[in-house]
Order: sequence, then C-alpha cells, then structure tokens
Amino acid sequence: MTTANLMDGTAVAARMNETTADRARELREATGVEACLATVLVGDDPSSATYVRMKQNRCRKAGIASRSLVLPASTTTAELVAAIRELSDDPAVHGILLQHPVPDHIDERAAFEAIDPAKDVDGVTMHSFAAMAFGLPGFQSCTPGGIIRLLDEYGVDLAGRHAVVLGRSPILGKPVGMLLLAKNATVTYCHSRTQGLAELVAQADVLVAAVGKPEFVKGDWLKPGAIIVDAGYHEGGRGDVDQAAAAEVASLLTPVPGGVGPMTIAVLLAQTVDAAVAQSGPGVRDVAVDTRVRVSK
Ligand code: NAP
Repeated sequence: MTTANLMDGTAVAARMNETTADRARELREATGVEACLATVLVGDDPSSATYVRMKQNRCRKAGIASRSLVLPASTTTAELVAAIRELSDDPAVHGILLQHPVPDHIDERAAFEAIDPAKDVDGVTMHSFAAMAFGLPGFQSCTPGGIIRLLDEYGVDLAGRHAVVLGRSPILGKPVGMLLLAKNATVTYCHSRTQGLAELVAQADVLVAAVGKPEFVKGDWLKPGAIIVDAGYHEGGRGDVDQAAAAEVASLLTPVPGGVGPMTIAVLLAQTVDAAVAQSGPGVRDVAVDTRVRVSK
C-alpha cells in the first residue's frame, strides 16, 4: 500500500513561474528592460543540450529573453573564460548559465568564476556559495534552492530534524546541506567514502539523495515516515531512490519526474528576474520578491 504523499514540484514550480512572469512583465512595463538569460553550452552532449533547450523554453513562457551560446567541445578554458567575460560585460544580459558538466579538459571552476556575481543566477560562483554559507543575500544554487522551496511549500519544519544528504557535489549536495543547516536541521553528509551508509540513512528524518546512481537508495534503508527528496534523474524516469519502495515507507516524497527538476528551473527563472531588477536601478527594486532563504535562529 502506498503511504507517501507526493511533493508536486510541477505544480509548485508552475505557481512560481506565474509570479516570475508577472514580475518580468512589470519590469518591462516600468522600465522597458527585458530580463535576459544567456545560456552557454560547450560540446555536444545530448542531455546537456536538452536541459539548455528546456530552460530556454521556460524562459520564453515566462517572458524572459534568452541568448544561446554554443561552443565546440574543443573550446579551451581561456576561450570559454573570455566568452563568459564578454557576457558578464554585456548590459543586455542579466543572468548567465554555464551548463554543467563541461568537457574534462576545461577548468570548470575558472569558467564559473568568470561569471559576474551580479549575473550568477545559477548560484555557481564562490561569491554566491560564500553568501549562502554566511546566510547573506545572494543567488542560490538552483537545485538546492528549489528543494528548500518545495519543503517550505509542504510545510516541512526542518528545525531540529536530522537531515542526511547523500552526495557532496558543489552544485547540489554541499549547498543543499548548507541550506538545510540554515533552516536549523542537524545535517549529516554522506559520500563515496562514507562507511555504514545504510545505517546513517536509516536515521534520517529528511533524506536528500543526490548520488547520480539510479535507484541507489533502497526502501528498507529508510526510516518509516521519513521525508525523501530524490534529486536524481535517469533514463526511464528513475531517480536516485527506489521510488516504488520509498512510497511505501516515506511520509512525503518527491516524484521523479515532477519533483525536484521543475523546481530547479523555477528558481533559475526567478533569480534571472531578480538579477534584471537589481541591474535596472534602485527605482524598480520593489518589483522583486525575495525568493532567497535566510538563516532562521
Ligand atoms: P555528482 O557531481 O556526480 O556527485 C555525486 C555525489 O554522490 C558525489 O559527492 C559522490 O561522492 C557521491 N557518491 C557517489 N557514489 C556514492 C556511493 N556509492 N555512496 C555514497 N555517495 C556516493 O552528481 P550531482 O551533479 O551532484 O548530481 C546528483 C544527482 O542529481 C544526479 O542524479 C543528477 O542527475 C541529479 N541532478 C538533478 C538536477 C535537477 O535539476 N533535478 C540538477 C543537478 C543534478 P564523492 O564526492 O566521494 O565522489
């Protein structure tokens, strides 16, 4: 028997996107400024191309302009850095998204750091990470920001709960742990060298799975009544958690697809409009609705 309630990321993201579209229109009407996201794709990885296309389509639906830069897989770090700096200097571009991952020979960190922090709407720069870690205003890493927003929407009080994060990547595991901490959860990080993983997962009131391995988390690892966020997305619509088994045990569960994925894009769009507003002068700042998480003590 299925017991878990599903956290409907598609529905929550749709509501967020409506607000974002309203704000983009207000900005356009007040100033003539059209919020614009530049996407940068390096190489010909088909899934990356699909993700970028999806983000551009969502931009269009929200009345946000998008500019697409597609570079060959042979692009050097220096060439990529130069291209991103040019976008950083372009006043018509308000947000920049470099699609991860880039080909192995490129220094991805150097490329991310070429993004002007004021345009870092994907929350990938050291500046954004530090602001998030200190609980200061700044752009959030989109998937972690989307996860926290979804938990908020479902009324999950994280204070004092034990949150276990599987994965410590700079774009997902690490920042989502920081945001859970900012919400006063007690956070345990697990990674490929963690010993006794199943026992740690069994203690989780809240589990965020971001390992990148299909159905890695088994149903019998989970604490009954746990809240499960499955950030994974794999061929055939599978997540990082065995969804069918988790649905029997969890109290709340993000489905795959339709859980974390749409929330990631919703945060990206909201932050693009935040960036456009901030770059359009103090007179229009009241168009912005703050979507960011603050430390609550
Ligand atoms: P990643 O960079 O590959 O990181 C995976 C993490 O999992 C690493 O920290 C790794 O540990 C850990 N790990 C690997 N094998 C493990 C094991 N056997 N036991 C415990 N930990 C293990 O992946 P990512 O970019 O964070 O993405 C994670 C997942 O989220 C993927 O399924 C991806 O498709 C999905 N994702 C979804 C969205 C979305 O919008 N829905 C966005 C981004 C990513 P080490 O650090 O020790 O190597």
